[in-house]
Amino acid sequence: MTASLLAKQWPQADITLIESPNIPTVGVGEGSTPYIRHLFKTLDISEAQWMSKCNATFKNGITFKHWSIRKGFESYFHPFLSQYDDDVTPLFAQHTRLRRHGYPITCHPDNYYLTKELTNQRKSCQLQDSSNPVETLYAYHFDAEKLGLLLKEKSLALGVNHLLGNISQVKQAENGDIASVVSDEQGELSADIFVDCTGFKALLMQKTLNTPFVSYSDNLFNDSAVAIASPKIDNYSPQTVSTALSNGWAWHIPLQNRVGNGYVYSAKYQTADSAEQELRHFIGQDRVKDVEARHIKMRVGRSEKHWNKNCLAVGLSQGFIEPLEATALHLVQDTIESFIAAIEEGKGTTAKQDYFNDKINYAFERVRDYIVTHYISNSRNDTPYWQDCRKIPVSDSLQRILYAWFNGMDVAEELDLQQISQYYPSASWHALLAGVGTFPEPDPSKTETFANEIQQIQHRRDELAKLFKNL
Ligand SMILES: Cc1cc2nc3c(=O)[nH]c(=O)nc-3n(C[C@H](O)[C@H](O)[C@H](O)COP(=O)(O)OP(=O)(O)OC[C@H]3O[C@@H](n4cnc5c(N)ncnc54)[C@H](O)[C@@H]3O)c2cc1C
Repeated sequence: MTASLLAKQWPQADITLIESPNIPTVGVGEGSTPYIRHLFKTLDISEAQWMSKCNATFKNGITFKHWSIRKGFESYFHPFLSQYDDDVTPLFAQHTRLRRHGYPITCHPDNYYLTKELTNQRKSCQLQDSSNPVETLYAYHFDAEKLGLLLKEKSLALGVNHLLGNISQVKQAENGDIASVVSDEQGELSADIFVDCTGFKALLMQKTLNTPFVSYSDNLFNDSAVAIASPKIDNYSPQTVSTALSNGWAWHIPLQNRVGNGYVYSAKYQTADSAEQELRHFIGQDRVKDVEARHIKMRVGRSEKHWNKNCLAVGLSQGFIEPLEATALHLVQDTIESFIAAIEEGKGTTAKQDYFNDKINYAFERVRDYIVTHYISNSRNDTPYWQDCRKIPVSDSLQRILYAWFNGMDVAEELDLQQISQYYPSASWHALLAGVGTFPEPDPSKTETFANEIQQIQHRRDELAKLFKNL
């Protein structure tokens, strides 16, 4: 992704992609956010050109199951938004606020948003009439390995040089900059700027430059994952499903040729063997009888700087927030695009380096806060893990959002005050906090249920769904 975006933006630049002939990639990362569509647009790659090559499917949102044991709130859908939802979002926020003030409203996000209905009906977010300009956001699921290969081909077509080699040494200049990288296969290679895409190893950013790492382990307990693919489902649903298990959660991601499954858990609370058994049982032992599991350790947190000296870290080398909302590639894309902007605004200098690092760090913190909210709002009591998750320390920013929610205030206004709606919009915060049912008991003196308004929304949604294509 980095090579292709840099080559597209800077066609005159001399860019070389060095890949190891034998060190594997992390091999997971099948979900995305709607932001990834900008990548394909920038690179002029149409859905017809890439989706079948990468066994990709459409993703309309994420269902969260069993994070809550509150009656009626055992499951909810985190929707990608449609412009058709523009008047639904404030109404839903208003209903949740009235519910927080004791009105007995059935305030479940699944009753409001269009993409939930499209998902129920196995429809894509694409309108049948392509001249209709109303936009409905959607993302994709895909085979990450295949997408990597496709982007490599695109990079080469854009003029990127490609070399195979294992980097065995990184040399620094007197001022601490990276001067060159050395491999047996290619010898010594020097450059003005190096991009560290070596995954959790962070060969340049951490191992060479010793850039401090800010761990999120106090806020996000999960540090391990086990992944097992199962046979494809013909009538797949266009969504990721995230199901809470005993000490973490399992992803279910339908692709054209298989289903990606994985269990993200904390090694402090569960062993790898037990996690694998739990995942196999969850998928169905027979479905994955002869399939080998892959165990992955995750380093959760971020580099203090993503651009340090003449080195940019992108991907797992810059940091990682566990994949609950499939945000890693989103942050990768943001990092590359922001780096391009910072270099251009700084006219090729490091003038914008601090600004860039602050911006990416801020994005990491805000995504982390939203993920943390899933854990602190859980109501499970089955294991110490889930009970401990409710005690996770929260940032000042998140504290203020939660204060607004639990004190019947306007959450959208709080997000605006903090200017953080671009990370997760009001609809996402309301969907999460309402979706798991963090409401007080209704006040018997307040009887209005607003059932008519909700019915009207559902009726309109049914009508709108007719405008969309089947999968
Ligand atoms: C459990 C899990 C689930 C995830 N799910 C999602 C998801 O749903 N959505 C999402 O957006 N992201 C997800 N991610 C993150 C996503 O997988 C990564 O962001 C993405 O794959 C990019 O990884 P990377 O290229 O940084 O690292 P890697 O894939 O680890 O690649 C590192 C590269 O560095 C090379 N390398 C290493 N050492 C050397 C050396 N000495 N010399 C030369 N080359 C070297 C390797 O060969 C490899 O090509 C998930 C991650 C995990 C762990």
